[in-house]
Amino acid sequence: MELIQFKSIGQLFRHKRRVYLDSNATTAVSRYVRQRMNHTLKHAYGNPSSLYEVAQKAARLVEEARQKVAQSIRAQPAEITFTSCATEANNQVLKSLSLYCAPNRRTIVASPIEHPSVMETLRWLQTQGIQVKYCPVDHQGRIAINELEKLIDTNTFLVCCMLANNELGTIQPIAAISEIAHRHGAWLMSDCAQALGKIPIDVVQLGVDYATFSAHKLHGPKGIGALYVKNGCPITPLVHGGHQEDGLRAGTESVHNIVGFGAACDQVNQLLHATERIGRLRAELVKKLQLIHPEMQVNTPQEGSLPNTLNLTFPGIDNTGMVAALDFSGIAVSAGSACSMPENKPSQVLTAIGLSEQEARESIRISLGNKTNRRDILYASRIFAQQTRKQTLTVNLVTPKQLTLEDLKGEMNYILDVRPAALRKKYRGLIHSHAISFFELNLHLKDLPRNKPILLVCQHGNLSYAATYYLQNKGFTNVSSLWRGISGWLEMYGEAE
Ligand code: PLP
Repeated sequence: MELIQFKSIGQLFRHKRRVYLDSNATTAVSRYVRQRMNHTLKHAYGNPSSLYEVAQKAARLVEEARQKVAQSIRAQPAEITFTSCATEANNQVLKSLSLYCAPNRRTIVASPIEHPSVMETLRWLQTQGIQVKYCPVDHQGRIAINELEKLIDTNTFLVCCMLANNELGTIQPIAAISEIAHRHGAWLMSDCAQALGKIPIDVVQLGVDYATFSAHKLHGPKGIGALYVKNGCPITPLVHGGHQEDGLRAGTESVHNIVGFGAACDQVNQLLHATERIGRLRAELVKKLQLIHPEMQVNTPQEGSLPNTLNLTFPGIDNTGMVAALDFSGIAVSAGSACSMPENKPSQVLTAIGLSEQEARESIRISLGNKTNRRDILYASRIFAQQTRKQTLTVNLVTPKQLTLEDLKGEMNYILDVRPAALRKKYRGLIHSHAISFFELNLHLKDLPRNKPILLVCQHGNLSYAATYYLQNKGFTNVSSLWRGISGWLEMYGEAE
């Protein structure tokens, strides 16, 4: 018996190559950033609020990092507040302006393709009496400027539009939006988390009043973000407590993370330098994929988009299956925004640009990184060729409709729940199912029946897809995977079971 547990899907199939094409989800921490962070952890462990040497050293490092972050977006250091992430920074702007800073105005006008950290906050603010109007976007995700002008009125205190979209890569005409917002006396906030390091940013030229950033999108550490507030614009704290960050963000500073963010910003010019090459690789990948799969639809605009981002629809191919299938061959791509994954809803961004729910479920996001090279692109296109030809997607899928309540009794089927234990505890499963975590499947092959069809299920259908593929490779001939998983099944049958 193999005694090693799997740590990832890819580990099931020892492949020679790993190609990371999900840089919009996160990036690897660069060696330079790591060195700066390690040095900080070792030599500047003091609390920046204390007055002795090792603490003051930490305080100096925080201010140096603030300067670097400010410089990378052409802001003043005093306009930068460190937060725990871009999500927190987005929350801070939206909540503080809505609840405290604009008591006589009640309306926010926003793009409908914002990141969940904005969309969900807007939804919550609606429950607090804030009116939110969404401005339509075109089929490439670009905001309809003429419509925006019509939506803003004297009740509007904020326009909210990201600089670059995380799923499509579409870059918004922020300077033009700023002109309109300001003409109507509204502030402009822009989530710039995806843009920093991929396109040059000058907050003054863009005309934004508030902007948010995240270090882990540009080879910095996770757990650190920054909020830019233009000098003179109002803001209140989200986290109350100590006086840190000029009273705008309480809590002892995460000095090593802040230093890591600063170091990542040191490398912004290098990253920008690489974008031309990355753009060429993206173009080459599109050409190759179009030859392989002529019906493929490119959702990302060729011009006016982040050079690394590519959103594609493959008609007839479910994206959860495709993500898992590509992972078998060492290729990491995503089926949407990492932050919206647990919901298993079709991407709101893609439906907002006019894709049907089905098309949205047939779309994937590829995001190249500064280390992506031509060999990666050639390998990726070869694997895409194999996986996107329908006949090579060899995993049998059972739709929620095909799995009736009768089937759940388990007499005809052996239903195997492969979710990790933590997920099984948190979310209900299907009755009469057996449970073996995907990552321990190799330890339990002998416990599985060979005389019954095995139906593998997980939360959304991606882990079970991978597990089905694995069992097929281990000689199980009658295995299938529940498409869209337990959540898809519950959506159809509700609380019936
Ligand atoms: N905004 C955008 C556009 C993003 O892509 C992300 C990350 O996926 C975030 C905000 C959230 O960033 P963080 O992970 O720092 O909260």
